[in-house]
Amino acid sequence: MTLDATWARDWIDRTADVVEAERHGLSELDRQIGDGDHGENLARGFSAVRDRLGELPPAASPGAALRLVATTLISTVGGASGPLLGTAYLKGSAAIGESAELDSEAIVAFLTAARDGVVLRGRAEVGDKTMVDAWTPAVDAAAAAAADGASPARVLRAAADAAATGAASTEPLVARKGRASYLGDRAIGHRDPGAQSSSLIIAAAADAADG
Ligand code: ADP
Ligand code: MG
Ligand code: MG
Repeated sequence: MTLDATWARDWIDRTADVVEAERHGLSELDRQIGDGDHGENLARGFSAVRDRLGELPPAASPGAALRLVATTLISTVGGASGPLLGTAYLKGSAAIGESAELDSEAIVAFLTAARDGVVLRGRAEVGDKTMVDAWTPAVDAAAAAAADGASPARVLRAAADAAATGAASTEPLVARKGRASYLGDRAIGHRDPGAQSSSLIIAAAADAADG
């Protein structure tokens, strides 16, 4: 499908569904290496987003819908992930402006700006065992797919596959940012919850594009 306002709403809807479905699983990951609230944080945040989306005019651009995600996550999610993901959506939505439809290059621009926002805010690098370990491979795979002439849906699928691999790659790592960094070697063997949720979010974008 074309990545228009309907796609953006479907992406948000699917994200709210998946974080609700994975709420306990994400909090369980966070119990291993954090404070056990990641699933609750995101479920609360995206449930608020879904409520507020109803107040947005149906014809609002994808950028406007994704900006609403940003402001809602920043104001409703107290944990580290609220401001981090909020900044991702804020910078991503700014990168796509008010376009009614996103092409492959616009998707790459969104993902790149979103990842840059997370890095600007949290100063984590790839390998620090954070959500950046999902976002950066997603950006790289999306850019490569777009350069090959892939459709927007295929660009998003490439991003989602790379994000899933990236989330899994956090398991053997020691954390260098966030709460998990206090654990030292005890974080080894556990997947980073934020990398996992980011891969679910990007997969929801690809699923919405597949219709
Ligand atoms: P909190 O740690 O405040 O309870 P959450 O549990 O909601 O917040 O989110 C934790 C996730 O946030 C981690 O799994 C990690 O992916 C991400 N995170 C924490 N600090 C950073 C950072 N500096 N840069 C990028 N991501 C981070
Ligand atoms: Mg937590
Ligand atoms: Mg917390």
